[in-house]
Amino acid sequence: MADISFWGGVGVIGASRILIEQDGWRVLLDFGIDLTPPNAELFQHGVALRPEYALYDRLRTGQAPPLPHIYREDAMHGFPLPAGSDQHTAVFISHAHIDHIGLIGWIDPAIPIYSSPETARLMDALAHAGETLEGYSRTPIPVEEQHPVTFGPFRITRYPVDHNVIGASGYAVETEDGVVAFTGDIRLHGRHPELSESFARAVHGARALVIEGTTLSAGFREAPRFESTVDKLFADALRDTPGLVLMSLYHRDLERVESFLNIAKKAGRKIIWPENMATLFKTWGFHDILEFGSDVDVATIRGNPSNFILQVTPEFLPWLLDLPVGPGSCFLHANGPPGARNHRWDVLQEWLKFLHVPSWSIGNRGHASPDDLNQLVEWVQPDILFPLHSQEPDRIIPPPGTARWLPQRGGRRYSLDFAK
Ligand SMILES: [Zn+2]
Repeated sequence: MADISFWGGVGVIGASRILIEQDGWRVLLDFGIDLTPPNAELFQHGVALRPEYALYDRLRTGQAPPLPHIYREDAMHGFPLPAGSDQHTAVFISHAHIDHIGLIGWIDPAIPIYSSPETARLMDALAHAGETLEGYSRTPIPVEEQHPVTFGPFRITRYPVDHNVIGASGYAVETEDGVVAFTGDIRLHGRHPELSESFARAVHGARALVIEGTTLSAGFREAPRFESTVDKLFADALRDTPGLVLMSLYHRDLERVESFLNIAKKAGRKIIWPENMATLFKTWGFHDILEFGSDVDVATIRGNPSNFILQVTPEFLPWLLDLPVGPGSCFLHANGPPGARNHRWDVLQEWLKFLHVPSWSIGNRGHASPDDLNQLVEWVQPDILFPLHSQEPDRIIPPPGTARWLPQRGGRRYSLDFAK
């Protein structure tokens, strides 16, 4: 008999950690960090987790799940939980976002971790660029799409899906009680909606579907903006701006980075990146990447502002005092840091106001709209629907024939044999 339990992402966006168990074998889908973790108020305003004891601190405050035989022994520091591998556990990662991979640096090295080849490559490139995991570095084992991995009684198949990071995947886990499908984070308005649809159709009739529900909330009204529209808004802004263009592009969305590099080139402008992003893009294999300071300095930008686009991070803001910015320039927010809910967003707005720089939001969401989530569920038509990674999971309405179970966090195990 197979069971499923949920160790994060319950009533919150993020921290997907889904455990499927059968005959003493375990498959763990994603192992992320909560974006708003329990007891977050203990660690703020300069009070941080102790780097060496970070896992202990997280376990102690409920920010890491108390699962036995997952964590490495040398990170436990006496926390009362069995550590080390049980040789019967494997981990599969949906994509390289912190709420899905943030805790894998604490997993025992003998436990295999799998992901798409692109996710593994991106994680290596990020580490090379200084964006390391908490704990120990870890590169997942790449698995090709639709080449099932057999692990104990399970067969796990990876399917590429569309999200705002390269290499995003959904999974189908075959158990003795049927298939458990997991969307990871998914959408139908990105560059590859056909991938998300193919995944949903491939897992049609699944015993259970675990679906993300980021956009499920009472306040959500907006129609999804397609990725082609984002490209067009960027091209239009370059055409209509006489001076220097400032932007914040989400740098892990490497397909958008590549597209923006091409659009900028056509518009006769060069994008200048901070050092960590330049390192990431060069490591990934992009050509003609220019780094602020070493490749292009302030004097060069001042001499010809209309030739450039400058990627701006919060740390960079005081440099704007040296640059020719004002009403003839603009700031384009394309999902880069800081996000609108980050406290540094307000600081950025103060800078733009002080310098009289007009600001436009040209990005889109990484997550399917409520209508598209319902469409995905209709394509799958699972027996059981588990909405996860959502503040209001009860806003998803299952189609006839599908039972909706709202997961509870932690110890509650749901038998997939139930009412079969
Ligand atoms: Zn997520």
